[in-house]
Amino acid sequence: MMFDTIAAISTPRGEGGIGIVRLSGDESLGILSKIFKPKSKKDVKDIKSYTINYGHIYDGDELIDEVLVSVMKAPNTYTREDIVEINCHGGYLITQKVLELVLKSGAKIAEPGEFTRRAFLNGRLDLTQAEAVIDLIHGKTDKSISLSLNNLRGDLRDQINHLKKILLDVAAHVNVVLDYPEEGVDEPIPEHLIIELHNVKDTITKLVESYDKGKMIKEGIKTAIVGKPNVGKSSLLNSILREERAIVTSIAGTTRDTIEEIINIKGIPLIMVDTAGIRKTQDEVENIGVQKSKKMLKEADLVLFVLDSSRDFSDEDREIYDSIESEKVIGILNKIDMEKKLDITNLTKVKKWIEISALENIGIDTLENEIYNFILSENIEDSSEKLIITNIRHKSALEKTKKSIENIFETIDMGYPMDLIAVDLNDALDSLSEVTGEISSEDLLDHIFSNFCVGK
Ligand code: GDP
Repeated sequence: MMFDTIAAISTPRGEGGIGIVRLSGDESLGILSKIFKPKSKKDVKDIKSYTINYGHIYDGDELIDEVLVSVMKAPNTYTREDIVEINCHGGYLITQKVLELVLKSGAKIAEPGEFTRRAFLNGRLDLTQAEAVIDLIHGKTDKSISLSLNNLRGDLRDQINHLKKILLDVAAHVNVVLDYPEEGVDEPIPEHLIIELHNVKDTITKLVESYDKGKMIKEGIKTAIVGKPNVGKSSLLNSILREERAIVTSIAGTTRDTIEEIINIKGIPLIMVDTAGIRKTQDEVENIGVQKSKKMLKEADLVLFVLDSSRDFSDEDREIYDSIESEKVIGILNKIDMEKKLDITNLTKVKKWIEISALENIGIDTLENEIYNFILSENIEDSSEKLIITNIRHKSALEKTKKSIENIFETIDMGYPMDLIAVDLNDALDSLSEVTGEISSEDLLDHIFSNFCVGK
């Protein structure tokens, strides 16, 4: 495909050690030759691919900067086009001047994301990979970065293509039956293809369901520490912070006057709900009480429900306990360094209890493991569950695919005509292709003719 040659500053704005002006397109070397004098005196167009070249940038006779220029020739480059990267001295003005010179010499200023967009348009990346690049850039924790890297490697693309292939097999069969009724295929869809269709649906369901986890990993999981006054909420928060040597990022909360803080547990961001109320100093009178705890419960994805194990269960504890949703709570029995009085036998709503002493830093590790498992169940490491989607676009496209497949099963159950199946199969393929950014109808035809020997 032919495009204009584009250019942009690819390093962050401001002062730094180097600033990079990047060009991509057929004219990259032509433009470079107008402004760059290599020390080697070589003609710029003769510079070999994958080399770094020392020299100077001139605007006519005026020396602009001393630079290193990387030259990468198509097609084995990020965009599949000729790429030139001019490493300038990293002052804002110099880098800007070099960019302006490049633009004056014929390049067009690149839109945001345009290099990656070219990589997609030129077929080097599919859409899921292009999106992974964006996620990598925005990634804030190890875990979210590792998910993005999996997608950049093409894991989601491969999975989608695998599912498409199965649907194409079914579509090929259906289309042959429709186009050549005289062949006398009396069984509309063979049993093994029906089983495959069920597998596809199950896989897609899992992918769709993984989105909530994916979103938490990418954006953070809203976590509330609740409990009546003096059970040790503030001490617990401090223990976690100590353990993680956490760099706490404070952000404005969703409700007015609250501060949310992000702490990072084993690569997963926890957005602590209303820590301002918890991180009180000892002499502050205000204390997070029952009403506030109940309010925080609503907002949170994960609730750490703290009880004082050295005391009996009280009415105040009960009031909070009654408002808790079973599936998002981890129970914490604090102060186990003291004699145990609390009886939790009847508190069956809480499935998991962790014993800790916030004061003596006991059990904090176990708690962190439990938080990690809450988000990523242990079996996440087996390959079927490894793929987690983090993108709402993927989720809604996959939901459409799932709906189309459900329609197919309904058609089969009701004994409706085969044409309907063909329509839903096409829809299913289209929505899968939306995920990777391809067009599917051509694919379908190609696949039919390559896999079926109709003349036989
Ligand atoms: P909050 O009101 O729930 O935030 O409770 P704090 O964290 O302020 O703790 C209340 C009191 O309990 C303080 O005097 C803490 O030192 C004490 N405390 C907290 N955790 C423990 C613990 O694990 N063991 C003991 N013995 N005391 C604790």
